[in-house]
Amino acid sequence: MGTDTGAVVVDVAGFDALLALLARERRVLGPVLADGVIGIGEIAGVADLPAGWTDEQAPGRYRAVRRDDDALFGYAVGQRSWRTEVNPSRLPLLQIRRRRAGEGDRDGARHQEVLPADPRAGVEPTAWVGVRGCDLAALAVSDRVLLGGEHPDPHYAERRRDVFVVAVDCTSPASTCFCPSMGTGPAAAGAGHPGPTPDLHVHEVCTTDRHELVCRPGTDAGRALLAAVAAEARPATAADETTAAEAIAEAARRIDEHRHLDAEGLAGRLEAALEHPRWDDVAERCLSCANCTLVCPTCFCSTVETTTDLAGTETTRTRVADSCFTLDHSYLHGGSVHASTRSRYRQWLTHKLDTWWDQFGTSGCTGCGRCTTWCPVGIDLVEEATAIAGPTAVAAHPEGGPS
Ligand code: SF4
Ligand code: SF4
Repeated sequence: MGTDTGAVVVDVAGFDALLALLARERRVLGPVLADGVIGIGEIAGVADLPAGWTDEQAPGRYRAVRRDDDALFGYAVGQRSWRTEVNPSRLPLLQIRRRRAGEGDRDGARHQEVLPADPRAGVEPTAWVGVRGCDLAALAVSDRVLLGGEHPDPHYAERRRDVFVVAVDCTSPASTCFCPSMGTGPAAAGAGHPGPTPDLHVHEVCTTDRHELVCRPGTDAGRALLAAVAAEARPATAADETTAAEAIAEAARRIDEHRHLDAEGLAGRLEAALEHPRWDDVAERCLSCANCTLVCPTCFCSTVETTTDLAGTETTRTRVADSCFTLDHSYLHGGSVHASTRSRYRQWLTHKLDTWWDQFGTSGCTGCGRCTTWCPVGIDLVEEATAIAGPTAVAAHPEGGPS
């Protein structure tokens, strides 16, 4: 008997048909294996997905390795998050062109024309396939930061407006994941999830005798897409939903046993530990390289670069991703507020886990683990936060996965 959620089950060929339909109307982005990492790239169908690949992650370590099955989404998260799709690392803001005095001016007083970038330029309907729960939660955080204030970012708004989201549950978590601690995964959506409702919420089942995808619609657009592949699908049953729920519960148990951050009351404990000696200890190891902020799905800081051509006739202003690990980030009339690595690391960690709540009413961390995996010296957010603001948090195991 089918459920009343509109959920259907498709096999791999049916999912391929679904992706092909999406690709007819949108630029479709999804997980691809490139340069030894499962990242994000353009896809036309199932053949482009990293079937049979997974990721091994640990503090300071990432490897894409073969699985012993053909799961399409059998990995955790790659280095790149969806952040750069809506908030690009480099974004032209305006051009200023000089012209001769009097040319085109009524009074001859202005000698330049200013051409702001059109926020719609180059933006097209897009689909994101394979969004994890932690990254969907990060999207909600970014929406709050970049759209929720008095001055919404028009560039972000245009890129965000027409995105069809296919969220996929995570049942192959990495050793650096801690989404259950932050309430963001491993289910990609569903009751209580902090992210926006995806158009489709997918759960992949890949066992020795079955390879299918349970697809639940979350929006009218999702329902329309599932209706278009009805010939390839069967209604999902209560047993399908039970299978999915059990796999999610098992993944959550494995992650939380392996890596848990006691997020309850953490903000207050961090505030009480601003002079903890561990800040000096972590500063000895931290390179201030900014990798952790560049891979983080919620970091949003930017600066503005101004460049002029050699003839001095044209100037371009570009918004460029910045990081609180750079000296210039906190530069104020004559010096940097965060002049030491200790100060910069403390600013980053306390902003993510503490003052983000004061600013935006949410945590700035969704537990994706990227900052830990891609830190070149393996500095581990859970380990540091636990050491500084314990004692109730359980220390992470430095090696091995959540098996
Ligand atoms: S702080 Fe680290 S674990 Fe948290 S969302 Fe950013 S990259 Fe992921
Ligand atoms: S914590 Fe790691 S990734 Fe972040 S700035 Fe320091 S060395 Fe670089």
